Amino acid sequence: MSGILYGFVRRYICISVEAELGFLRGESKIQKEKIEIKPEDLTKPDEAAYFVEKTRVDRLAPVVGNIHGISANEPELDIDRIRQIHEALPKTILVLHGGSGIPDGQIKEAIKAGISNIHVNTEIRIAYTSALRQALRDRPEETTPYKFFPGVIAAVENKVKEKLLLFGSANRL
Ligand SMILES: [Zn+2]
Repeated sequence: MSGILYGFVRRYICISVEAELGFLRGESKIQKEKIEIKPEDLTKPDEAAYFVEKTRVDRLAPVVGNIHGISANEPELDIDRIRQIHEALPKTILVLHGGSGIPDGQIKEAIKAGISNIHVNTEIRIAYTSALRQALRDRPEETTPYKFFPGVIAAVENKVKEKLLLFGSANRL
């Protein structure tokens, strides 16, 4: 980046930095095996406070029983830990990575305990790919993407809408 451009970016563009702290297992896909989270994987509230103080990141994604992607076993969020991290860092935005596959009740509890940003990737990928596979199966002769894509787009929209309603974010963005 040129010096002039860098100066412009620093002066006029507000960059928000997000960090993940702890060991977040898994990948953004459906994993057939169970994923065991070890106690040492989890983010400790005092370490989170120290990390944010030293790095001054804007958003922190802690490891609180979540994983990337969806595993064979249902995740169990450590709601108390979220609350403790939020109490230690009341001004830091807490982000839940790996929001796919977590039961709705746990998501609501996590929001109450201090989570204010949730990443959902795998569930949206599944909505997209399963609708696309279905559309191609339904119309095997069709070769025009804009003819079979409306249903795929609607499937993704519906999934996003479902999540916005669950998070209490509808009409608040
Ligand atoms: Zn992540």
